[in-house]
Amino acid sequence: MKARRIEITTFEKRLKGIRVKNRTAGIRILCFRGLIILSRSLGRVCEFTAAFLLFLLFATPLLFFCVIRKITNGRPVFIRKEIYWQNGKVRTIRVFNFDHRVLRNTFLFFHVLTCDLRLIGVSIKEYGKDARTAGDNFIYSDRPGIFSLWFLRNSSRTGHEGRMQVEMEYTFRHGFLSDVLILLRTLPAAVFHNPKAELPAEVTIMGVTFRNITMQEVIDLFIKDIVAGSRKKVFFVNPDCFNKTVKNKYYYEILRRGDYVLPDGIGVLLACKFNGTPLRENVNGTDMLPFLCRVAVENSFSIYLLGARPGVAEAMGGRLKKTYPGLKICGSHHGFIDSSEERGIVINEINAAGPDILLVAMGAPAQEIWIDRFASELNAKVIIGVGGLFDFYSGNMQRAPRWMREIGLEWLFRLLQEPRRMFLRYILGNPLFLWRSWTSRRHK
Ligand code: UDP
Repeated sequence: MKARRIEITTFEKRLKGIRVKNRTAGIRILCFRGLIILSRSLGRVCEFTAAFLLFLLFATPLLFFCVIRKITNGRPVFIRKEIYWQNGKVRTIRVFNFDHRVLRNTFLFFHVLTCDLRLIGVSIKEYGKDARTAGDNFIYSDRPGIFSLWFLRNSSRTGHEGRMQVEMEYTFRHGFLSDVLILLRTLPAAVFHNPKAELPAEVTIMGVTFRNITMQEVIDLFIKDIVAGSRKKVFFVNPDCFNKTVKNKYYYEILRRGDYVLPDGIGVLLACKFNGTPLRENVNGTDMLPFLCRVAVENSFSIYLLGARPGVAEAMGGRLKKTYPGLKICGSHHGFIDSSEERGIVINEINAAGPDILLVAMGAPAQEIWIDRFASELNAKVIIGVGGLFDFYSGNMQRAPRWMREIGLEWLFRLLQEPRRMFLRYILGNPLFLWRSWTSRRHK
């Protein structure tokens, strides 16, 4: 009897506990929902206010100008455009009748006020001009925005994943705060924006010719080279490399002999823009590695890591294997090879492993000299000079966060990490490079 009573009381206690828990959980859910509704409404109010102010500030003077122009020479005030809209629909919007893209689009703020567009959303696609893709129905579940994550990444040439993946990332992750941050990052990134559709396949700066190509295209070419069994030398050139070529003619000649010379960094992006030959993407080694690892797993390609201080390449290999299960790291060795005997041993080791991809991280120009000198002796297919890459991927050094890369400030992050070593390279080297690239173009 006593035992039963105890059972009942514990049962009641439990029940009460559950009820209390449920009530608290219910209140929590209500509060959470309330917060979501509040933040959404707050978001909408902020969006409308911002669009209204931007319209007032930028569009009204232009509207006034266009109306006067219409009265005096009859040129229409607006151009109509059809865009892909919410839920697979097509909608007509208006922009100002100007040739300049930015001036033309200032009228879009009006369409935020009429609820046709969002201020920040997925990017606008023109009906009949831009191709519709499979994921469009999903990403256009909301109205498109004047500003977008894709516009931001495309401007700074860091959208290596491609448009759809970036739009998906936005659709899944966006919120009020992230939208505000996109808007803030867009302002500096827009400096690099280039609306030109036709871009040259190659660009030459200070006598060094490099490819104007996207990350995906380079990776596809590497796959073809590996499958065909050809040996290719791949070099990245950043502003510091260009500056080094001025004194080091041997390095300059090596760069000219590279099978793939690829532009690295925001400095090269700016120089190309100033010189009237804009870049398609900033194809740097650090951003390339995840793409390389993915294709290596998919195609069973092996990778050998040569370079950096003892232990760094091994640590990086271990980390990569965890991130990309199935990745074949067929060997690694540090990059401080002092004697010809040691060099012979390393070359034999690489040849025995026969990597499809050999990454050489000894810093420029040492790695380019090493690759150029020994490529013919190596049983490796794509040989890439990657600078300080191993230090980042081994966890020894932190890479700049993505938002800093998006606004072209990765160099500042590195400068703060190693102020002494990077001062000459960035604070003096970057402006010197821009000046040199500008004068070499004028000279040409
Ligand atoms: N390094 C090397 N062997 C050397 C000199 C340097 O392996 O004889 C490594 C060094 O440990 C570092 C990388 O090369 O990991 C150079 O990094 P840095 O940032 O200078 O290269 P960058 O990206 O500027 O070319």
